[in-house]
Order: sequence, then C-alpha cells, then structure tokens
Amino acid sequence: MAFTQLSAQLVDLIAQDLYRTRQIIDSTPGVHVQIAGRQLINFSSNDYLGLANHPQVKQAFKEAVDAFGVGSGAAHLVCGHHRVHHDLENDLAEFTGRERALLFSTGFMANLGIMDALLTRQDRVFEDRLNHASLIDGGLASGARFKRYRHADMADLQRHLLAKTTALNTLVVSDGVFSMDGDGAPLAHLVALATHHQAWLMIDDAHGFGVLGEQGGGIVAQHGFTQQEVPILMATFGKALGTFGAFVAGSETLIDTIIQRARSYIYTTALPPAIAVATRVSLQLMIKDTWRRQKLQTLIAHFREGAEHLGVCLMPSSSAIQPIMVGTNQRALALSAALREQGFWVSAIRPPTVPTHTARLRVTFSALHELAEVDALLAALEKCLINS
Ligand SMILES: *Cc1c(COP(=O)(O)O)cnc(C)c1O
Repeated sequence: MAFTQLSAQLVDLIAQDLYRTRQIIDSTPGVHVQIAGRQLINFSSNDYLGLANHPQVKQAFKEAVDAFGVGSGAAHLVCGHHRVHHDLENDLAEFTGRERALLFSTGFMANLGIMDALLTRQDRVFEDRLNHASLIDGGLASGARFKRYRHADMADLQRHLLAKTTALNTLVVSDGVFSMDGDGAPLAHLVALATHHQAWLMIDDAHGFGVLGEQGGGIVAQHGFTQQEVPILMATFGKALGTFGAFVAGSETLIDTIIQRARSYIYTTALPPAIAVATRVSLQLMIKDTWRRQKLQTLIAHFREGAEHLGVCLMPSSSAIQPIMVGTNQRALALSAALREQGFWVSAIRPPTVPTHTARLRVTFSALHELAEVDALLAALEKCLINS
C-alpha cells in the first residue's frame, strides 16, 4: 500500500501556502535565537516572562536531576508520583486559592483528561469557537453533545444554554486569553451565565497565567474569581513559567474525580520530578518578579502605539500576544519571510490554526525584550508593509 494519495495531498498543501515546516534552533530559547547560522530577534515565543533560561530555574533543574534522576519511572498511580510532584501541587493549590491542584504531563493531555473525567454522552459542552485545539478535541472526544458558540458572544452562549435539553450536566469551556488573538474571555459574563444556568465553567488560562494579575495568577485571579465561580481552572507550565507540563485546580471532588477517571492522567508517565522542582522555582520567580509583568506591559503598550501609528491592523489585546491581521496565507508567509530577512522571527499563523482568511503574524513579547528591539521590529514592519 503506497502513500500516493497522501503525497498528492502534501503537494496540495504547498500550493495553498498551508504547508508547515519546522525551523531548527541552534541556541538556548530566548529573545535571541540562532537559526540557519543567523542570529534572530525572536518575537514568536511563549516564554513571556523569560524564565525558560533563568539561571535559578536551570540550577534547580540540574540539582534535581542529581537528586531524583531523569525520568519519573512510572505513571502517577503506579509509582511515579514523587514528593516533589506533590509539593508543586500544594504550591499551585495555595497560589490559586483552590482546594487542590493536579499535575498533567502536558496541557493538551490535561484538557483531554478533564473533559474525559467530567462528561458522558448524557451531558453537553459549549465552547468558544476560538478555543485551543486541545479543548475542542477534548470536548469532541468526551462524547458529550458538543456546540461551539461565536467567539466571546455571550448572547449566542445564552441561546445554547436556554435550549431545551435532557442533558444531565452542562460544561462551558473557554480559553482565558485566546492563544491566537490575545484577547481575554468575557469572564464576568461567563461566570454569571454559568452560575445562572447551573453549568460548570472551565477556563484554560495557558496564556494568561504568569502574565495577568498582580502576582501572575492569570485572568481568573485578575478578576478575583474564586473556586466557586470558576470551578475548573487549568493552566500550563510551558508558556510563562518556561518549563513543561500543566495543572488543573479546583475542589477536592473535582480533582479526585479526574484522578479516578481521566485516561490521559492514568495511562501516561508522570512528568520528570526535576521538571516539578524547576517549576516550583519558576513559580516563585513568577510571583515575586512583578517587574517582568510590568516590563511586558510597557513593551506591549509601546508596540501598540507604534503599530497604530504605522496603520497596522491590531487586535483588541492587552496580553503578550499581539497579532497583526494579514488575511491571505501567502501574504502572511511573505511578510514573515521578509521580517526574517531583516533579522526578526515572527511566525505566520494560518488555517486551520485560525479561521480561513484570517492568516496573521503572531507577534509575542517577552519581559527580556528591550524597547529598542520593539522599535527595530516596528521599523522592519514598516519597511515590509510598504514593500508588500
Ligand atoms: C499551549 C496550550 C495548551 C497545550 O499545552 P501544552 O502543555 O503545550 O500541551 C492548551 N491550551 C492552550 C490555550 C494553550 O495555549
């Protein structure tokens, strides 16, 4: 059996400017990266606070490898649940003001597992259209009746909630900060609607955690919503915390249910304990280093002001994600390539990651960028936009 059909489909992707390639990095992660023998200023990373390469985080990781080895050795429910995993869970529960927290090996698996544990065919789930792929897949895989509501459209969500139903439970799910648009979910409305309709509310704050809120507690903490109001809070370590993995926080019953039922929790190897140790250090830095969040906001404001001055089409975002709407796939790729020529790495985001006709440059900021680098990016953008 040959792959003739598949190779034809690959050729087709190239023709539509939808073919994806990987760039090989030859340096540490950060705002300056080495690619294909060139040093680029990186405006594509999710390492928003610049903690992925932090000396204290690295030191903690190295010492933990000496103390605990490299792999965890097993799944959490077998013999892979180390003391340091437990310590990190306790830190996260305390920091988020939830009864308990539970680690997952990745955010993707957390989202699959949470919905797997909570939902059956007799339930229903409503998701924002622009939710992260892992939330969409989690909802679909759960077997529950699945509906998407228009992005941040609370009237549309309400319409779904009011529909006559025989469903036992209803789950409403939203990104906290939308990963490709950078805008925040209408949290107060979501909480009000979910409460009124006795639905569970789940927020995935992968991009808000560490960035928003005085101590980096994310969009939920920024608005002061408690476990009662946002009963299922999920976030990841691979973004602002600069490490790897994810957690869900909530009530004793929620966490216990997930441990008993989530297949992506039960049937997978636990995170390396050294990652848990590094994440604990990273979490403390995240909380303590308020300057990182302030610096980010300064960079973001500076960029938005400069971009508006250039007449660039920005989106309503106050997060570290500042996309520039471009439209066609071809133009997004061309602009990304032109910026790269000038020494900047800004990735082009195309369907199916974003809806068709909304290809964009996804500019992201790190607390380690300098204002001068933002100015240089703006100057390069101006040049590219004139030429395109
Ligand atoms: C990155 C991301 C995930 C997946 O997390 P990983 O740990 O990278 O698997 C889930 N949800 C959102 C919103 C994300 O941005």
